[in-house]
Amino acid sequence: IVINDHAEGRTQGLAADQVEQLETEKFTFQTEISRLMSLIINSLYKSREIFLRELISNASDALDKIRFMALTDPSALATQEDLTISIAADPETNSLIITDTGIGMTREQLMKNLGTIAKSGTSEFLEKLESAKGDVTQIGQFGVGFYSVFLVADKVTVASKSNDDPDQHVWMSEAVDDFVIAKDPRGNTLGRGTQITIHLKDGALEFLNQDTLKGLVAKYSEFINFPILVWSSRN
Ligand code: ADP
Ligand code: MG
Repeated sequence: IVINDHAEGRTQGLAADQVEQLETEKFTFQTEISRLMSLIINSLYKSREIFLRELISNASDALDKIRFMALTDPSALATQEDLTISIAADPETNSLIITDTGIGMTREQLMKNLGTIAKSGTSEFLEKLESAKGDVTQIGQFGVGFYSVFLVADKVTVASKSNDDPDQHVWMSEAVDDFVIAKDPRGNTLGRGTQITIHLKDGALEFLNQDTLKGLVAKYSEFINFPILVWSSRN
């Protein structure tokens, strides 16, 4: 991991309230996903930090995919040459911003991958959690690791740019029954990849702390083959 101490050029996230101002399209979460989310957001789990492992793992998968694609089509990388993951804390907005330059998602993929298409493992995992036999840290094995972000977040935006979509789009959820998608008002700021802005819940502000973040990134980056940049906080 690389610690970047310069505030210049640091990533700016997109706040959920900014998305609310836009012309958005509303989608309903698939039932099991909705139940899983409300369980995650309303329960007190000890191992909340695993959200970072899940998001780093998704970023790494997305980077693997674009790198693999570039083997047969090197021009696929032209939209963004660097293959990196960056993590920034913004104490002014109580947000964490996780950005990767992976394959990204089209508008359609944001809609399908993050909430409308059920994964085969969802109901099994849900049953386990509901019967208190489940362990939230196993979430990734059931194909729903992304939703672990609601262990620490009350609002999440996911901006993404794929080579297969002319526009960058943004997905936003406040952990209720539906989510929205809109064209990103900032335009194509990513080139290619995905930027997740996590608005931390009141009880999860410890994840803004740079030493906490660095420690967790070190713990979860063992098998990650891409550089991870951790930006220092502004204050
Ligand atoms: P899994 O990783 O097991 O498929 P997740 O719930 O973690 O399940 O993620 C769901 C899907 O959302 C992924 O399969 C992928 O298609 C998409 N996705 C999540 N994060 C990213 C990302 N950073 N870049 C591109 N696609 C992503
Ligand atoms: Mg995953």
